[in-house]
Parts: sequence; C-alpha cells; structure tokens
Amino acid sequence: MSANIIDGRQLSHTLRQDYGQRVKRLASQGVTPGLAVLLVGQNPASQVYVKNKVLACKEIGMHSVLLEFEADMTQARLLQEIDRLNHDASIHGILVQLPLPPQIDPQSVIQAISPLKDVDGFNLESAGGLMCGTKSFWPCTPHGCLQMLDAIGFDLKGKHAVVVGRSNIVGKPMALMLLQRNATVTICHSQTADLKAQTLQADVLVAAVGIRHLIKADMVQPGAVVLDVGMNRDEQGKLCGDVDFAAVKEVASYITPVPGGVGPMTITMLLANTLEAAQTALSTLTDLSAQTVHAAHKPPTPRA
Ligand code: NAD
Repeated sequence: MSANIIDGRQLSHTLRQDYGQRVKRLASQGVTPGLAVLLVGQNPASQVYVKNKVLACKEIGMHSVLLEFEADMTQARLLQEIDRLNHDASIHGILVQLPLPPQIDPQSVIQAISPLKDVDGFNLESAGGLMCGTKSFWPCTPHGCLQMLDAIGFDLKGKHAVVVGRSNIVGKPMALMLLQRNATVTICHSQTADLKAQTLQADVLVAAVGIRHLIKADMVQPGAVVLDVGMNRDEQGKLCGDVDFAAVKEVASYITPVPGGVGPMTITMLLANTLEAAQTALSTLTDLSAQTVHAAHKPPTPRA
C-alpha cells in the first residue's frame, strides 16, 4: 500500500493562519513582530530563500526588512550591522543567510546575534539550550520535521529514530529533538560503515545528506515514517530529495515529498521563532513597566 504523504505546504498553511492571529494579538498589545534578513552577495539560491522568508512574514502581517550587501562587504561592517539590529526594538529576529563570502567567518557572525534574537537557532547559546533541554530557539528545519511528526500524531517514545547526516543545522539538532521526545536515536554520516543496516532499523528515518536518491526502498523498514530534508537537483534541474520517493512511498507508512515537504516547514518555524521572540520582548516590557509602577508606589526609604 502506498504511504500517506505528509503535506508540508498544507500543514504550513494551517499553522501560518494561526500565527497570523497571534501577530494581530501581539500588535494590539503594542508589539508587531519583526524579522531582519541579511544577505551578503548575490548567490541566486540564497536570493530565492530570503525572498521567500520575507514574503512569508508579509503573508502573516509580520514586519520584515531585507538588508542586502555587496559580496566584498567586510566582516567588521556586517558585525556593526548586527549590533545595530540587536539594539533595534522593532526587530525581534535576526537571520543572516548562509553561506557567506570567504572573507567572513560564519561562526563569528552567528555568535554576534543576540541569543534573544537568534531565530535560526544556530548560535552557541541556542545549541546549548537544546542540548541541555532548557528554553531556547530550535533550528527551523529539524523543528519543522518534529512538527510534521506531531501533525500525524506519531508518538516517538520508545521508537527507533535514525538520522542520516550530522550537520550542526540539521542532523545533530534533529537527533537531540528526537532524543528529547524519548526516541532511541542513531546518527549516521559519511563514515558510517553499513548505512543500510542502520536505516533498516528505523521506525522514523530522517534523511539530511544532500545526495539525490541515497535512500532506496530496500533501505527502509516496511511501515517506517520517512522525512526527507535533502534538496538536490536532478539532470533536468528539478528539485528532489535524498529519498527515492517513488519507490520508498510503496514501503513507508508516511513520507514527505520534495518539494512541498520539509522546505515550507522550515520557513514556518522561522515565523514561529520570531513570534516567540516578540512574545518574550512583550513580556519583558510588561515586567519592566510593572517594576516601574511598583517602584513609583514604593514609600521613600527613611533616612538613617
Ligand atoms: P551538510 O553538507 O552540512 O551535511 C551533510 C551530512 O551528510 C554530513 O553530516 C555528512 O556526514 C553526511 N553524509 C554525506 N555523505 C553521506 C553518505 N554517503 N552516507 C551517509 N551520510 C552522508 O548538509 P546539511 O546542511 O545538513 O543539509 C543536508 C541536506 O538538506 C542538503 O541537501 C540541504 O540542501 C538540505 N537542507 C534542506 C533544508 C530545507 O529547508 N528543506 C534546510 C537545510 C538543509
């Protein structure tokens, strides 16, 4: 029997309608959530990604600014811009589109973003929060995968999850999120000796590699849930994932397509994180004004 398709576009649409309502509520309390997207250089793929992110903000009534810089921009200048945005009260989330030109060190740039505005969830504070299970922004792509599992009501407790790929932005955070939900997690990577032996154990299989059709039908346990993060191009330039979709959908119980699967969910989680950042900013403002009122009503301390 053919697998059920987890439709990332449909799920995103539903979630974004709810987020639109939350934006309105926040705006009525005086805080319109705002996202700043910084793009350095003219990488065509990056230009498409940032355009989609800004459009998604507009769609739900969120404020957004796209700041574009020449490819020869210095690191110092970019850090200065981030510092300015860290102090800009109308901006709650800051995203620097990767990759960056070679003269700029991505880690220094990511670390310069205030942890309160790190809506990509890439800086060390965010990563540490995920690692230790404390509140922090989660990286958008694996967070989107988790939302897809929630949407089909999949209980991860006691299940075996296999993540193929160990990058800092997808594979590792994905594994930690699955662990946090009480799955038993295996991480596979380029040096894994027998990938098929591992993937065949998976109740949930997440492919985040960047190799077209790496995951074949005979590598998937019948009834497994398969999430395809990969974004590759075939000979015709058509977007496709890491999973051989046509064949694997005949084995899996649920599967995400590419395009229309994890991709839209990544942007949706960016919106979710920005909303969260704005909500925190509002709560801080409310606390501060409560403290000010309290201080104003406090009787003067008697002189000694
Ligand atoms: P990456 O290049 O940083 O990491 C790839 C990982 O794959 C590495 O950990 C490597 O060890 C592993 N790997 C390489 N060859 C392997 C093999 N033969 N067997 C097993 N593992 C192997 O990539 P990334 O940033 O994690 O992205 C992975 C894929 O996901 C890419 O196609 C990327 O375009 C896509 N992606 C999609 C989204 C989205 O929103 N849908 C977001 C981020 C990344």
